[in-house]
Amino acid sequence: MVDTLIIGGGSAGSVLAARLSEDPGRTVRLVEAGSPRRSAAEFPPELADSAALPVGGEAPWLWRYPVALTPELPGQIVRGRGIGGSGAVNGCYFIRAAARDFAAWSREAGTRAWDFEEVLPFFRSLENDEDYGDYPGHSRTGPVPVRRIARPSRLAQEFATTCLDLGFGEVPDWNSMPGGPDTGVGPVPCTIGAADSSGRHRRLGPAHSYLLPALSRPNLIVQGDTLATRLRFAGDRVVGADCLIEGKPETIHADRVVLCAGAIESAALLLRSGIGPADQLAELGIPVIVAAPVGRWTVDHPEIGIEYRHPAPAVGAVPLEYVLGFDDIEIRPYTVAFAPGVHRMGVTLMRPTSSGRLRLTGSDPFTPPLIEQNYLATAADRSRLRAAVGLAGKILDVMSADWSGGTDEGAISDHWLYERLGSSQHLAGTCRMGRSDDPRAVVDERCRVHGVDGLSVVDLSVVPVPLSRGPHATVLLLAERATADLR
Ligand SMILES: Cc1cc2nc3c(=O)[nH]c(=O)nc-3n(C[C@H](O)[C@H](O)[C@H](O)COP(=O)(O)OP(=O)(O)OC[C@H]3O[C@@H](n4cnc5c(N)ncnc54)[C@H](O)[C@@H]3O)c2cc1C
Repeated sequence: MVDTLIIGGGSAGSVLAARLSEDPGRTVRLVEAGSPRRSAAEFPPELADSAALPVGGEAPWLWRYPVALTPELPGQIVRGRGIGGSGAVNGCYFIRAAARDFAAWSREAGTRAWDFEEVLPFFRSLENDEDYGDYPGHSRTGPVPVRRIARPSRLAQEFATTCLDLGFGEVPDWNSMPGGPDTGVGPVPCTIGAADSSGRHRRLGPAHSYLLPALSRPNLIVQGDTLATRLRFAGDRVVGADCLIEGKPETIHADRVVLCAGAIESAALLLRSGIGPADQLAELGIPVIVAAPVGRWTVDHPEIGIEYRHPAPAVGAVPLEYVLGFDDIEIRPYTVAFAPGVHRMGVTLMRPTSSGRLRLTGSDPFTPPLIEQNYLATAADRSRLRAAVGLAGKILDVMSADWSGGTDEGAISDHWLYERLGSSQHLAGTCRMGRSDDPRAVVDERCRVHGVDGLSVVDLSVVPVPLSRGPHATVLLLAERATADLR
């Protein structure tokens, strides 16, 4: 029996386990489905290299899910598996969500607690910003190293110069006060170590920053190769979870359980345990513990991947060194090669008006949920993205890139868009935060599941609004903020 059982040792789980176990009077046990890693040396070299996006092949550190990007268009998304979770495989981009995102979040939660001014102290307490640590709103004392690439690649430099020539402003610091600039081009703040003598950096995810340094604490047990399959209840109180520990069934008992299994698996675990839409659970023969709209709303960042050829090599220090942001769009000149000799520019809709859903199709823990992204379902989303692709085309033309497409947005067909449509890997919102009278809400403003005692969800599942920036900085903030409530 422990005080707190944390399910999932990814981005949010790493923060929570480390922060909660700072109190020696509290016992914390964290279970992680993927590999246990007890030191930085145990991370595979592919994960250590910040220049790679380690999502190819049959990598054992990934969960892979088939998805419907649109009703007609199948796709695939991945998530990190193993200590560090998706934060151990991600692109190192670490930009805070915008102040307006937090204002919208607070409105959904029915509290001011998620306003930018309220969460800023948590952003400050988590970061050690190498470049801007002494500036207002920043810090040098947190566990997460943040730095921008000092010598960007030729491709990133050409992209930045082109954007400036086209009239966009320069953004030296995307995380500057108040709540980040809306528009401009600038270097991406990254969670990486200092450059070595050959200019290479190490990817330093949340496990490095939080979990590994806490592993020697006697009140913290961290267990890999342990899949939580179902939650256990006594009445409407959670009392633990059934797990498969290296394939063997065991029930772990706890005073409270915090789900940090990510937006897909936290939702799937709730549904499998009887917390979800009653009709869906009845179809699958799962007894209902609490009827809740789990999986009824999801949001992601749809991305058009434009392939092109350019004489500059794809040799960045991170997959994305510079980014252009404006309105609800990011344009991303990736510096990793997605195919030999071919570059990719991502054009991403950050605040889509279309939303998707997730549902279980089987009650066993090995059947992946059905994820329907419903991308570009609204005319507004298609038209925003089409205009942004037109601008990306202008940038490519000025860069003398060789690509197939046009800058006249009227000539960009739906077919052209859908052929290049993919996910930014940022699925969120399956267990939305909101008031108890909100028919779409699963957790309250402090991440506690409505109607169940002792159960919280703390990961990207609970974010109730589309985020204007990639989610990683916000997930770590969420976990820092939730720790304060769970202490
Ligand atoms: C390839 C990729 C690139 C990305 N790049 C960026 C980027 O550059 N910048 C950015 O801002 N965002 C990026 N993201 C998104 C960001 O990394 C994630 O949104 C964030 O890490 C999610 O954190 P989380 O805690 O919600 O979940 P995760 O970090 O995914 O953690 C969930 C953990 O729970 C474990 N787990 C799941 N089910 C169970 C179970 N039943 N029992 C036990 N353990 C379980 C998983 O194995 C995993 O370790 C990227 C994501 C991916 C996949």
